[in-house]
Amino acid sequence: MHQCDDWIICEHCDSVFESLPLKPGQTSICTRCDGVLQQGSALTIEQLFAISIASALLFVFANVFPVIDISFQGAGNQATLWSSVWALARGDITPIAFVAGVCIILAPGLQIGLLCWLLGFAYQGRRAPGFKGCMRLLVKLKPWSMLEVCLLGILVAIIKLSGLLDVRPGMGLVALVLLCIVSIIVTSKSMQRLWDEAKVV
Ligand SMILES: [Zn+2]
Repeated sequence: MHQCDDWIICEHCDSVFESLPLKPGQTSICTRCDGVLQQGSALTIEQLFAISIASALLFVFANVFPVIDISFQGAGNQATLWSSVWALARGDITPIAFVAGVCIILAPGLQIGLLCWLLGFAYQGRRAPGFKGCMRLLVKLKPWSMLEVCLLGILVAIIKLSGLLDVRPGMGLVALVLLCIVSIIVTSKSMQRLWDEAKVV
């Protein structure tokens, strides 16, 4: 085995390989277990930073504007993500409100904030203060961020309630749909790029 500064370990079987620079669309596969080792990213750090800022704005819109607009015989009500969690907290199932608050507001918000922090410094060609801690926290937050589950739940609620009440999707729901799409791009593409950039800095 010759000397190399840039090793990569297969996360599925712990085999060690030499890291190779990949072009956009290229993928390196583990020869032992066929797991994906690396993927060439078509997005630059500037583009990922711009997408992370867009996701932060969409996150604010999704929390500020109502996701569902409900009306029945002249009486109407609007529900935002915050008001849904608050309504749960005031009911008999407070622990569910805590879990919902963490999964649809706290974890995604922290995830987006950390990505903006890390990518903002990477955009300036620097490693962000607390880089390793932030990267570890991002990995730990990933299972707790459940915006997609929340979106699915809201869509099911709209379909179910539409037979009984006048239910209209709000601006917050549009922002939530876009946020789910943008979050998939920025969280899946940023992690490997940030580690790669950290090696250079
Ligand atoms: Zn492997």
